[in-house]
Amino acid sequence: MTNEFSELGLSAELLRAISAQGYTQPTPIQTQAIPPVLAGRDVLAGAQTGTGKTAAFVLPLLQRLQESGVRPKRAFIRALVLVPTRELAAQVQASVSTYGRYLPFRSMTIFGGVKINPQISQLRYGVDIVVATPGRLLDHLQQGTIHLDQVDTLVLDEADRMLDMGFIRDIRKVLRALPAKRQNLLFSATCSDEIRALASDLLSSPVEIQVARRNEAAEMVTQVVHPVDSSRKRALLAHLIGSNDWRQVLVFTRTKHGANRLAKQLNLDGLQSTAIHGNKSQAARTRALSEFKLGRLRVLVATDIAARGLDIDQLPHVVNYELPHVPEDYIHRIGRTGRAGLGGSAVSLVCGEENKLLRDIESLLQRKVDRVVVPAFQPAPDFRPAAAASGGSGGRPAARGGRPTGRSGGGRKAKAGPAPKSGKINWRSRRAMG
Ligand code: AMP
Repeated sequence: MTNEFSELGLSAELLRAISAQGYTQPTPIQTQAIPPVLAGRDVLAGAQTGTGKTAAFVLPLLQRLQESGVRPKRAFIRALVLVPTRELAAQVQASVSTYGRYLPFRSMTIFGGVKINPQISQLRYGVDIVVATPGRLLDHLQQGTIHLDQVDTLVLDEADRMLDMGFIRDIRKVLRALPAKRQNLLFSATCSDEIRALASDLLSSPVEIQVARRNEAAEMVTQVVHPVDSSRKRALLAHLIGSNDWRQVLVFTRTKHGANRLAKQLNLDGLQSTAIHGNKSQAARTRALSEFKLGRLRVLVATDIAARGLDIDQLPHVVNYELPHVPEDYIHRIGRTGRAGLGGSAVSLVCGEENKLLRDIESLLQRKVDRVVVPAFQPAPDFRPAAAASGGSGGRPAARGGRPTGRSGGGRKAKAGPAPKSGKINWRSRRAMG
């Protein structure tokens, strides 16, 4: 197996674009996927975000367009990439422009939540590569503003996410509008029965590739758990950001409401923050993301759904303000940092009620995550870290320590204090320190 881009069979224009990007070596998914895609094979690839999967399909896709030399007819397109979210569509298209900078191809995104007319005008002259979310693509098909008969390559990116988001019927409708003879590439982080069923309908004698299983990918990221009472999470977060001088932090909360509230509170603490979630308009989300990338916004607070497809190069810090209920989401969250082997840190603020969630995550990771108590933020003595609780006493201790809220967000307790500031030091933490 080769370790050089130059040995993968890519054209001079693409190699130039790759070196302009500063990439010196292909990642494993690129080494394994590029040659079969160039050879016209169907591919089923198990690869998650951060492995370099986008370039693994964009590079050979561009080259095949280059080799065929066919131009798209009016309102026709040559290659279709289906993705689950608007954000991912924008990111994939940015990769198409980046890697295709020395090639003459036209590419565009198609997604909902924005006006359809500009998309129609762009399509009118024919487009080489369209990156689309399924819903808006179907609108165009129904209106006859896009024709898929000339598509010779279809890519499903983050197919598992598309299924999670309920796009399977839309995907099947799109498939019916495609010509029977075409190349198909399916990328997915996980391989459920549903993915297998889709793959067997879609792909013909595919080359199967599996890189960096989830837990291996997670090894690239330094992970730590800070045990803390839920009511002190915000103070600890502000302390970590300030004392470590973190400049770009992606913070995860479980709910939209929690994200809004936390962003507001962090702003009061003097940390420039914005929340992004499904209730925010596309324009607001794009604005927040670009401010964040430019370094004008220090903290981006996101829910799991909103963070999917966010591509932020070299994001150094991810914080789990609340652990996710689904252990896989933890992997997706920490996959936002440590991309392409760059390393990164993932910090989880874990209160007693979340011990069960932490154990589930650790069994998925097949390893323990180090617990580090931050001085002055040690939880009340009845907090029992999951490591010590091998007997499995989960969330019980916290319930003893105070009100059994049945949830771990910390918002209720913070509110119970007279004011947010004084709420930082409550009776539980004073007791812990004394
Ligand atoms: P992806 O898995 O496609 O989301 O890519 C993750 C990140 O890795 C992106 O920010 C890419 O710019 C970067 N990347 C992709 N390929 C390489 C490579 N061969 N060398 C270094 N970085 C890369």
